[in-house]
Amino acid sequence: MKIGAHISIAGKISEAPKRAAKAGCECFQIFSRSPRGGPAPALTAPVIKEFRSNIERYHQNGSYIHTPYYINLASSNNRIRFGSIKVIREELERGSLLGIDAVMTHLGSAKDLGEAKAQEQVADGLKRILDGYQGSTEFLIEMSAGSGLIIGDTFEEIAKLIKLSGHNEIGVCFDTAHAFASGYDLRTKMAVKKTFDEFDKTLGLKRLKLIHANDSKAEFDSHLDRHDHIGLGKIGQEGFKAILHEPRLKHLNLILETPADGQRVNDVEVLKGLRA
Ligand SMILES: [Zn+2]
Ligand SMILES: [Zn+2]
Repeated sequence: MKIGAHISIAGKISEAPKRAAKAGCECFQIFSRSPRGGPAPALTAPVIKEFRSNIERYHQNGSYIHTPYYINLASSNNRIRFGSIKVIREELERGSLLGIDAVMTHLGSAKDLGEAKAQEQVADGLKRILDGYQGSTEFLIEMSAGSGLIIGDTFEEIAKLIKLSGHNEIGVCFDTAHAFASGYDLRTKMAVKKTFDEFDKTLGLKRLKLIHANDSKAEFDSHLDRHDHIGLGKIGQEGFKAILHEPRLKHLNLILETPADGQRVNDVEVLKGLRA
């Protein structure tokens, strides 16, 4: 497994691979635009060329884009609903220009529409995002923490949405903190085995394309999204060691999204230590 982290694109996007390497990363994730809103910065030919050559130069073995926070495919507000579809498609096209492996997104909340209607609308959104898309960047749904009426917090629901969308090529990004908060145990070797057995049965492990490695400040099955440093939260070191040594996950990359809270913890090194 290659280990990396979410990296800032401050200054210019082509600096990200260098910044990742400096942080000890073997792979990395970025926002390609402000996660809070506004138009995406233009990707000119020189920027694209420099980004791609920096991936090689700084030995990065995987690169990912996280979509902005405001995405909600289940919104009853058409501006938000269709804006979300447009932005996700743009990120896939931008990712393809940059040579990015995959884009992952959250799906949104069913609070406006109720669960059944929201699922239908999300599946329709997924279809619209991918219809006619010919880029090379893969599209992943990120497993969510299930707070409130958040969509995508169970393997069953994600499987249902993919089926309804008609796009069987959709992959999944498994976030350890979100899955743990949604009631998928990861604290022991046995628990990790059971969780990924269940993933395989419901979604198929071939759909699993990336793992977000975050410990959880929130309790098991609490439906709260609170990331913590690896080994300091409720999942704990034993859980991450089990994930790093689960044979079925060996080919996957791990991306850290642990808080920049000034605690002097180097999560990249902690994970590398658990992998060794
Ligand atoms: Zn996320
Ligand atoms: Zn995540």
